[in-house]
Amino acid sequence: MTNADVAALFDRLADLLEYEGENAFRVRAYRAAARTIADQIESLEAIRAGATRSLTDLEGIGRDLAAKIETILDTGRLPLLEELLGRVPADVFDLLRIPGLGPKKVRQLVDVLGIDSLDALEEACRGERVRGVKGFGEKTEASILKNIAFVRGTAAQRQLWDDADQVVADVLAWMRGCPAVERIEAAGSWRRGCETVGDIDLVAVATDAAAVMEHFRRWDHTTDVIASGGTKSSIRGPRGMQIDLRVVVSAAFGAAWLYFTGSKEHNIRVRSRAREHGWSLNEYGYQPVDPSAAAQPPTAETEAEVYHALGLTWIPPELREGRDELALAAEARLPRLIEECDIRGDLHMHTTDTDGEDTLTDMVRGARERGLEYIAITDHSQRVSMARGLDETRLLRQWDRIDQLNETLAAEGPAPIVVLKGIEVDMLERGGLDLPDHVLARADWVVASLHYGQSQPRERITERILEAIRHPAVRVIGHPTGRLINRRPAYDVDIEAVIAAAALSGTFLEINAHPSRLDLDDHHAAAARRAGVRMVISTDAHSVRGLGVMRCGVLQARRAGLTSIDVVNALGWNDFRNLLGQRST
Ligand SMILES: [Zn+2]
Ligand SMILES: [Zn+2]
Repeated sequence: MTNADVAALFDRLADLLEYEGENAFRVRAYRAAARTIADQIESLEAIRAGATRSLTDLEGIGRDLAAKIETILDTGRLPLLEELLGRVPADVFDLLRIPGLGPKKVRQLVDVLGIDSLDALEEACRGERVRGVKGFGEKTEASILKNIAFVRGTAAQRQLWDDADQVVADVLAWMRGCPAVERIEAAGSWRRGCETVGDIDLVAVATDAAAVMEHFRRWDHTTDVIASGGTKSSIRGPRGMQIDLRVVVSAAFGAAWLYFTGSKEHNIRVRSRAREHGWSLNEYGYQPVDPSAAAQPPTAETEAEVYHALGLTWIPPELREGRDELALAAEARLPRLIEECDIRGDLHMHTTDTDGEDTLTDMVRGARERGLEYIAITDHSQRVSMARGLDETRLLRQWDRIDQLNETLAAEGPAPIVVLKGIEVDMLERGGLDLPDHVLARADWVVASLHYGQSQPRERITERILEAIRHPAVRVIGHPTGRLINRRPAYDVDIEAVIAAAALSGTFLEINAHPSRLDLDDHHAAAARRAGVRMVISTDAHSVRGLGVMRCGVLQARRAGLTSIDVVNALGWNDFRNLLGQRST
């Protein structure tokens, strides 16, 4: 059981208790516990066994919760959850996945209309029966209908890249402990840095394939052996993910790794290029198309060999989507993709002054430990009342503290990190920004984001964003489409108009690195690059730990073909400071 697995059980429990009308305090306690658990870097197992701290030392984990965690660790089960599951219709979980429908509203629909499935809910919406339920209306009904389609459309079993990455790291660590493994690598959509990952594919070279397969099946986290053969096995592992392992011969490793990395479209193009050269290519390497031909097929031990044989430079996995990568590789014109080590600053983060979990000082220390040269503190503005957004007075007080902090830092010697006075200001539903111009004008860095009125019509949403882009104080548009992967679709926005306006005014667009945002996505970021818009990759961290998601944003930028030139926070502090001083309009 990983921490994420345990957290998911508590989240489920909270959902069901809320659905059952349990008191809000108890529900909140389970949700808080889930969050605490998911945030622990150390495994619960290690904390329980550790000499230094015990489970009850974790914030919000009392004796009762600690006992439940122990039961889960020992048995993999949570009896209270199973009891609730026995009482609740099985399809309630499908209904709970609909964005905007919480457990309470789902309960109402079940009680009043007898709805027990997505199909039944869809029918009730089409029959205009939902709008008659207290607390629902015509608009809610229409948005439920739209969101049912979204829930059906998202392959909910696909995991966020960052979550899949943890599984990949764990399984690779386990497999590399097997003496019979000479080399093992992960492939598939994980390696291409896709936003979500379905199955995990592993490719290995071994001295003894049977021993490797045996070791794989014996992994602690294997919950099910789906298929088991001499050179190929499939198991089900953490998060219910299927993991496929293939053992190949060393001479074909490059061909196999390339083949199982995909994408399908990329592979089709590579194969057809191989045929033009007289070779057929698959996971076993090159063979002559004409079997009577005497020519020796090219070697395929490394991916580079496979590409070079076709007159191509090696193609980074993030670009293997069957777009223009082969043409660029043929002319050795592939971009030098940005890397995480190119990133010098982080320009979107929150503190305990609003909905962050760590204080200003902690965030600065965390950023410094990551080696960043500069950061911007961008807490929420007042409209975000749920997060205790800052009004003018509280914001100015925070900025005073930042001034003092910078002085202290500067006194320690050559400035180790610069803290910018920023704000994530809301674009209001009625238009305009959530803080007066004279305040925004004093900020070092303004992120403008849209959090409310997301269901407004396209023209309205687009106009709100264009207005912010044209505002002289706004430097960057935060998470420009608002989508949450697997949870909420993007709001309806004319992204081409946004890109064109940003190009015109020199406003930057964000690639929000949070694993469930990754917004702009790769297509939009590539379009922005073509239009001459520069981007900012930001973590939007709500804790010191949250600063670690930068790599996810960098992956998305790489998928978009971005170089360090396209990314503003790849500038060193001196260049970035100069950039802050200028603006094209
Ligand atoms: Zn935001
Ligand atoms: Zn934010």
